[in-house]
Amino acid sequence: MSINIEKFEQIKSHCQKTNANLIAVTKTQSIASILELYHLGQKIMGENKAQELCKKYEELPKDIQWHFIGHLQSNKVEDIIDKVILIHSVDSLKLLQTIDREASKIGKTMNILLQVHIAQEEHKYGFSKEEILEFFSSKTYEQFPHVAIKGLMGMATQTEDMDEIRNEFKTLYQIKQTIETEHAFSLKEISMGMSGDYSIALEEGSTMIRVGSLLFK
Ligand SMILES: *Cc1c(COP(=O)(O)O)cnc(C)c1O
Repeated sequence: MSINIEKFEQIKSHCQKTNANLIAVTKTQSIASILELYHLGQKIMGENKAQELCKKYEELPKDIQWHFIGHLQSNKVEDIIDKVILIHSVDSLKLLQTIDREASKIGKTMNILLQVHIAQEEHKYGFSKEEILEFFSSKTYEQFPHVAIKGLMGMATQTEDMDEIRNEFKTLYQIKQTIETEHAFSLKEISMGMSGDYSIALEEGSTMIRVGSLLFK
């Protein structure tokens, strides 16, 4: 596969207008394709599997900023913690605890986002709205000193219904606002939007879009 340069430029300019970051999702893409993207100036990449991330990390330039975006098993945290600058998909306290422990072992403060379940599909991962508000109201984060919570992440329902998607993104944005105003905890980032819905996400306040398939052809 190669890069869809026209789309790439279009998405980048859309991000610039709204001050958002493009996380290029490189899962299943070859080293050659990722290098092509890198040489076009894209240095922020996202992967959703620990093993694939580790392999690509070894083979690709060291100034790539790797983001972990997929469901992460606790026993894989150790493999990626020294390689990524942000984990988007922290979806349980158990995982948070493991990240805190592994970060402490290597003397790092790990940047993370908490994943919130905003979609209608049951199988998607993430904290419920109630759980996430409780997490901040009871200051649960104080138990994890080696973790820096930078924001929230969410995935919309896979549907053609753009109003439904927009409402889900609005919900995530409102949860972030509630946490900031009622619990006085600053959350800079809101990671939402993929190939099919990134424009809506940017309109609804996303600061990080995770786009894969649209960048490649
Ligand atoms: C694959 C993936 C993306 C990108 O999906 P595209 O539809 O290819 O843009 C974004 N976020 C997560 C968590 C993913 O697994």
